Formats: sequence, C-alpha cells, structure tokens
Amino acid sequence: MKLYYDFHIHSCLSPCGDADSTPNNIVNMALVKGLHVIALSDHNTGKNCPAAIAVGKKNGLVVLPAMELTTSEDIHILCLFERYEDLQKLEAHIQKTRLRIKNKPEIFGRQLILNENDEIVGEEEDLLIVSSGVSVEDAAALVAGFGGIAVPAHIDKQANGLIGVLGAFDYSLGFRMVECAHETDVALPRITDSDAHYIWDISEPEHFIEAESCSVRGVFAALKRMCADGK
Ligand SMILES: [Zn+2]
Ligand SMILES: [Zn+2]
Repeated sequence: MKLYYDFHIHSCLSPCGDADSTPNNIVNMALVKGLHVIALSDHNTGKNCPAAIAVGKKNGLVVLPAMELTTSEDIHILCLFERYEDLQKLEAHIQKTRLRIKNKPEIFGRQLILNENDEIVGEEEDLLIVSSGVSVEDAAALVAGFGGIAVPAHIDKQANGLIGVLGAFDYSLGFRMVECAHETDVALPRITDSDAHYIWDISEPEHFIEAESCSVRGVFAALKRMCADGK
C-alpha cells in the first residue's frame, strides 16, 4: 500500500522549532495534510517522541521515533527507528559525547519537553543544536547497531548537508539511503521530507513509500527493504 510520509519534522524541543510545534499540533496537521506516517526528528534528542507516538496512536497516524543527529563535522543525519527504546540508547550515547553548552532561550528559543496533552513536563537545558562526538565515518554503523537507519539529511543543501560539508558523496561511509528534495547523482534510494520547523511547513501528500501495512513495523520494514535493495 502507498503511504504518504514526512520523516523529518521538528517539534518545540528543537530550539529552532516553533513553540506551536507541539505533539498534538504536529499530528493533527499531518492528518489534515493527508499523511499516513511521520517521524519526529529533533536535533540530537528524541524526548518528544513518546508524546507524539501516543497522540498518533490515538488519532490514527503512524509516528516513527527519530532524531536529527549532528556529527562532529556538523553534518546532519536523520536517524529513524522502529522502537523508542533503541532511539533512547542512541541518545544516551550522544549525550555522553556532545558539547555541553547551556541553551540561551532568549537567543535560540526554549527546548520544551511535552506530554501527550501538550503540557510542559521538562525543559532541556543544554543547547541541542551542537555537534556531537559522533563522526560521520561512524554514524551509519553506530545507528545500525542500535537498530536504526541513518540517512544523511538534506544532502542537496549546502548548510549541514553531507555533500556540502565533505565536497562529495562518499559511499564507503556506509549509508544506504539519502534525504534530498532535488535530483542528485547519488545512486541510493531517496526520501524527501519537509524538515518542518513550523507546522504549516509539514509536507503535502506528495511522497510515498510502498509498505505492507500502515504501521510502525510495516513502514520500518519498507525502509529497510529500500536500503537493502538499493531502490
Ligand atoms: Zn538539518
Ligand atoms: Zn532538520
């Protein structure tokens, strides 16, 4: 079955994410747009995923746990997971290695952790948009080791894109899928997401994957198959 997706959406936990990008607003907007599946992918954290997953379950939207990892080279890698526990393991690893700089909410914005009723249950104090200690050379294997899929994000953008930073796409890094909005000459399966920081930027139903079922398991299996088949 065809499932329309947007696997790259930021919530109010990302300092650059809008305060109105709450779990309920994101899920409801995705449903209004006609999507079947989304992933919540905040910078270097997945702490708003449990709320988004719970809201998705209540309202009939598949929500994958995810994060947008910043490598030590400042390259953004979308990390998609089937289970939140696996994402937590990656986050714990990153937490140990990333730079510790206090967030300045007046400059960067607040980093709010919400529950499924959009109530504030925590605030991340260290700035999330910093480099981690994870090198791009290790990212694919590290994320796979935790059961996830690492996808170089917006590779057709100069800022924080793998090609923009490294100068060329290096297949030996082990990535099996890329995210981009435009054609590139990278010969790997491609997904196209919104990278929405405001709910109105969430994708229209334009991009779909073929999955066996409209479920987290079905979507994740479809992504894994794309990576394995190379198409
Ligand atoms: Zn990014
Ligand atoms: Zn992003």
